Amino acid sequence: MNIHEYQAKMIFRDYGVTVPEGKPAFSVDEAVEAAKAIGGELWVIKAQIHAGGRGKAGGVKLARTIDEVREHAEDILGKTLVTHQTGPEGQLVRRLYVESGVDIDRELYLGLVVDRENDGVVLMASTEGGVEIETVAEETPEKIHKVVIDPLTGLADFQARQIAFALGLEGKTVFQAVKFMKLLYASFVEKDASTAEINPLVVTTGGELIALDAKMNFDDNALYRQPAVEEFRDESEEDPAELAAKAHGLSYVNLDGNIGCMVNGAGLAMGTMDIIKHYGGEPANFLDVGGGADAETVTEAFKIITGDERVECIFINIFGGIMKCDVIAEGVVAAVEEVGLKVPLVVRLAGTNVEAGRRILQESPFDIVSAESMADGAKKAIELIGG
Ligand code: GDP
Ligand code: MN
Repeated sequence: MNIHEYQAKMIFRDYGVTVPEGKPAFSVDEAVEAAKAIGGELWVIKAQIHAGGRGKAGGVKLARTIDEVREHAEDILGKTLVTHQTGPEGQLVRRLYVESGVDIDRELYLGLVVDRENDGVVLMASTEGGVEIETVAEETPEKIHKVVIDPLTGLADFQARQIAFALGLEGKTVFQAVKFMKLLYASFVEKDASTAEINPLVVTTGGELIALDAKMNFDDNALYRQPAVEEFRDESEEDPAELAAKAHGLSYVNLDGNIGCMVNGAGLAMGTMDIIKHYGGEPANFLDVGGGADAETVTEAFKIITGDERVECIFINIFGGIMKCDVIAEGVVAAVEEVGLKVPLVVRLAGTNVEAGRRILQESPFDIVSAESMADGAKKAIELIGG
């Protein structure tokens, strides 16, 4: 699960990780009030969306007067920001964050990720802050410094110092950096985060370290024990189809292709995507209705797939193990009756009661293409959309 910058900064603040003073705002008036309450002579008005790259898209603006705060807030709130992370359709700004502005000396990068290759949490840092880290990794990988953290001992002082020196920090800033990294690591572990990214981490003209940006992601499987994190959920930032799927206990991930898939079991769902790709097609989604899905679940899944405008063909691939093929077939027919069928539908059934299942599909008034095997189904789906 993703949260907003201001929420990640609330977590950081609780752990003692230094962040500028700031307040969220849901209207222009609130933004002006926030700036007045914060005081000072420089403010930053920041769009709050679940995507990075806001600065370049005009979603982060400095204000030197209260009038400028109002102007920028009016400009950013309600705007659709298109960044490299939002996709071409962009993301509507519904919340702002007003922060006390900082005089920057240097912009650095600091991040924590769960790294499967190293079986642990990795601390990453770079002198190239404020730039997309993916670009740094690609063009100048030697500028990214990493340490692997032992889960039993946590981040050791010497490791934090190693990173601080690699960042070119000196004097008291080194000690501040060590403390900063250890507190960041504590927040990461205790909140079951999967990534925490500070880009940029800045050294101010006064030599202080401060997190100017903050991004945190959390492990969905741990949310049951993180009620405070769950409270931060902003459904308006999430994919509506993925939300609907979650509400019905379906595992659904939206992808870029045009063949909508409905499968039971995560392994079969992966296999189905693979076989579509193997024959030159592109899956529109990953959708696992689960081992014990009933007719109602199938209908919900069908609604989600048909609601995706890019879907040009639907491929249902079901293995009737726990679930019987005739029950699935009834579910499919009921779903088509309810939702209608605007694109070709290919169904491959195998397992318990497969004959009865196929008969139900054939005898239905709908034009449902039956497939003998996974490969046959994938080929037919691809043929039906013109190769
Ligand atoms: P992102 O573009 O979504 O990653 O948003 P950031 O929060 O990283 O802000 C983008 C850029 O705005 C930063 O890299 C800084 O250069 C600049 N910026 C943000 N806050 C301040 C600030 O308080 N003072 C100054 N001078 N620049 C800032
Ligand atoms: Mn940033």
